[in-house]
Amino acid sequence: MQLYESQEIKVYNSLTGKKEVFKPINEGHIGMYVCGPTVYSNVHLGNCRTFMSFDMIFRYFRHLGYKVRYVRNITDAGHLVDDAEDGEDKIAKKARLEKLEPMEVVQRYTVDFHNILEKFNFLPPSIEPTATGHIIEQIEIIKDILEKGFAYETNGSVYFDVAKFNQEHEYGKLSGRKLEDMIANTRDLAAQDDKHNPQDFALWKKAEPQHIMRWPSPWGDGFPGWHLECTAMSTKYLGETFDIHGGGMDLKFPHHECEIAQAEACNGKSPVNYWLHANMLTLNGRKMAKSTGNSILPGEIFSGENEILSKPFSPSMVRFFMMQAHYTSILDMSNDALLASEKGFNKLMEAINSLKSLNTGKTTDFDIADWKTSCYAAMNDDFNSPILIAKLFDAVKHINLIKEGSESITLEDKLELENTLHGLVFDVLGLENKSSSDAHTEKLGGVVELLIELRKAARENKDFATSDQIRDQLAALGIQLKDGKEGTTYSL
Ligand code: AMP
Ligand code: ZN
Repeated sequence: MQLYESQEIKVYNSLTGKKEVFKPINEGHIGMYVCGPTVYSNVHLGNCRTFMSFDMIFRYFRHLGYKVRYVRNITDAGHLVDDAEDGEDKIAKKARLEKLEPMEVVQRYTVDFHNILEKFNFLPPSIEPTATGHIIEQIEIIKDILEKGFAYETNGSVYFDVAKFNQEHEYGKLSGRKLEDMIANTRDLAAQDDKHNPQDFALWKKAEPQHIMRWPSPWGDGFPGWHLECTAMSTKYLGETFDIHGGGMDLKFPHHECEIAQAEACNGKSPVNYWLHANMLTLNGRKMAKSTGNSILPGEIFSGENEILSKPFSPSMVRFFMMQAHYTSILDMSNDALLASEKGFNKLMEAINSLKSLNTGKTTDFDIADWKTSCYAAMNDDFNSPILIAKLFDAVKHINLIKEGSESITLEDKLELENTLHGLVFDVLGLENKSSSDAHTEKLGGVVELLIELRKAARENKDFATSDQIRDQLAALGIQLKDGKEGTTYSL
């Protein structure tokens, strides 16, 4: 028997606005599609959070014994600057600015994306298709939508006819918008060039002469619309209707709304049974985004080289920090929040590491079976990782009481506790036990903090020769001290 047979999972479905019992189309199998990154710049921690939420969900399903086909694409064409309907391709723009081939840009940032995800201990998806690898499939879908009368061609571009679609279907049902309101809120109809209506969106765009990312099609040289690629790749690998579609909350409209419209126009049925949306990572209360400069790169957090950080944090610790918030809640990142999280992370790992050498004895009040049930109940309730972590700390408390000698544990319970903790902490949350390099970094951090103290004392004694020597020699070793209002901090 697989573990999933004894567990009932509820998920928050953005399409219905309700928590629903999750039932896959084929028992024991799950098809899940998540919109991947547009590879035109380094991923920031906000992007990582969304992908990490779905990595945790993927991990949990696998842990329960489901066979999961997890498809996460790479957007390497068709995504225009500012998510606009007209203008330059994000990748082509970067290529122009850096004097590179667009595919060099794609390669560079795909490699960066994979490196970062590996540091965070992500499991690779089952399939990672690219938009440019599926131009033929996209053209076929456009032909189908045209044939079914839900699209029209103008001047070498093809647009989805939202008003026509809305006569038989419901455009806006995912994002809770009404087409009439959208129409009422748009003023400048004349400026809408080739489109019949401003709400219509591009399935295929004619490539202007300067547009370098172009492919031949029945409508002339052009490139596919951003929304279409996800419909093409999800249907190709998961079928006309599949179990789960995920992505960041900010993709609900228009991206996911348009995906629904395209698929329904083709197949006459809803493409996805459960829509899951992950919430945003904010920095000092504002959405983390590359475009506004309000972002931290993963590399900066691992080295501490960012002005808001007082020290470096390890990838697994950052992962723990993210897992302490529910994936549908906004999470705000700050140095204080990271420091507080690090204390908890260290405590958890110390407890797990001390389990092996724990003395065994008689039974106590702590009921392992009950505790285990409550851990799974947390995850079954829409993947509630913060509640799970709170439960893990109940076990940590118990372990520490046993260490002190004020409680005891039987051998059988100890093995069960160890197995369960390993499964939940390492397999499901994807945390990693401290590697020897983490342990070294931690020791080094302790030494740097000691030197910071000695330097402070030297300065107080007006011994500037010593304080300068400490700063300069650390700098020569690549360790930067930063003096600020709150004291001295460092990066490695
Ligand atoms: P992009 O590469 O811009 O298409 O974004 C990739 C993914 O990152 C999408 O699912 C976005 O929803 C998500 N994302 C972007 N900014 C944030 C943020 N601040 N917090 C969480 N997810 C984000
Ligand atoms: Zn998508």
